[in-house]
Amino acid sequence: MFHFWQTRACVWLTVACAIVFARCAFAAENISPLGTAHDWDLLARYQKTMTREDFSRLLESVYCPNGAADAWIKTEAESARILESKGDDSFTLRFATSESARRPRGHLWMTRATLPPRKPSGPLSDLRIALDPGHLGGTWAQMEERWFKVGDAAPVQEGDMTLRVAQMLAPRLQQLGAKVSLVRDKLEPTTSKRPDDFEELAKAILKKGGITQPHEDFVGPADPEKEQSVHWNRDLLFYRNSEIRQRAEIVNEKLRPDLVICLHFNAEPWGDPANPTLVDKNHFHVLVNGCYLAPELEFDDERFEMLRRLLSRAYLEEVTIAEKLAESLANKTHLPAYEYTKDNALKVGTSGYVYARNLLATRLYQCPTVYLEPYVMNSREVFARVQAGDYEGTRNIDGKEQPSIFREYADAVVEGLLEYYKGRK
Ligand SMILES: [Zn+2]
Repeated sequence: MFHFWQTRACVWLTVACAIVFARCAFAAENISPLGTAHDWDLLARYQKTMTREDFSRLLESVYCPNGAADAWIKTEAESARILESKGDDSFTLRFATSESARRPRGHLWMTRATLPPRKPSGPLSDLRIALDPGHLGGTWAQMEERWFKVGDAAPVQEGDMTLRVAQMLAPRLQQLGAKVSLVRDKLEPTTSKRPDDFEELAKAILKKGGITQPHEDFVGPADPEKEQSVHWNRDLLFYRNSEIRQRAEIVNEKLRPDLVICLHFNAEPWGDPANPTLVDKNHFHVLVNGCYLAPELEFDDERFEMLRRLLSRAYLEEVTIAEKLAESLANKTHLPAYEYTKDNALKVGTSGYVYARNLLATRLYQCPTVYLEPYVMNSREVFARVQAGDYEGTRNIDGKEQPSIFREYADAVVEGLLEYYKGRK
């Protein structure tokens, strides 16, 4: 049977396809690897939720410094016109005429100001925190280049260490009333994809970059030509791109927290991982999302994601939390701030430790997100502390009485959060 409604549906489908095709034909989409072509109409919920002053301030001093978005965003008196792609399609964002005329914008996460009053369960009651232990660790640590080994000592694997901190931190935050979840809870990827799935995409990316006859394999992490090989690119698409996109899916669709804390350990270049360079330098810094570079904003999906973050006002919450965590990390570790030497990060806040930077995780997680980078894993002192493992009290390490590095890290996070949320109602 062939019903009239089916015919009509088919006609409409044909028309819709033609429209979509026409749009694609004229407006060349430029989507980053494994990225999503977003529906710009989703930003309509932010109409009149922000004044021109707030929008310009966030755009210029946090998200797109040095005119990085000038080719894409034209700010006028009452609205901003944002190019959706290289074609003519643009999204018009209308500003609120004044702070008091701002339309409320709905998001699922709570700020310190919107959390319900503190309950007897503790100072962090009703706060939903997701802990995101960076990297994969375990058998993946060498592939993700977060592994080094000195002589007969146990290998240092960042992904194992971040999970250890997360597992120490979770019960402590729960005791303070928070609802805590781990974005990753084992030494395994959350993505179901594997490097083999990205063989063809890796070749296509290399081809786009002008490498038409790439090497299939590379010798090791120190191989200067590794970035031109199919295997290195394929692995990177798996353990970084696909993995972080899956974590974003977990954060945004399943956990829906008020705050994500990404746990990492930093490092200085260590050269050959089997014979690594140990250094004296030790430092820390804290990241929030921002500081997009002009080439990153060329991608339609990244531009959309930048605006979604800016308009969500997550920055206002996360930068204050980042400052509190930086303060408590500074008090505990006495480490100096890491100083970026390139233009891919921008100092924000007043502590000197907090930077804005466009990382995939901080861009895709749709709630306040603070990304911690304490300790240089291949500094002599940190290496010795990692080898000492976890213990109670203090031990003499590198000539100083020191607590377990994992406890010190967890303590600093707890104290920073307590300091911030004690200001709630
Ligand atoms: Zn890391």
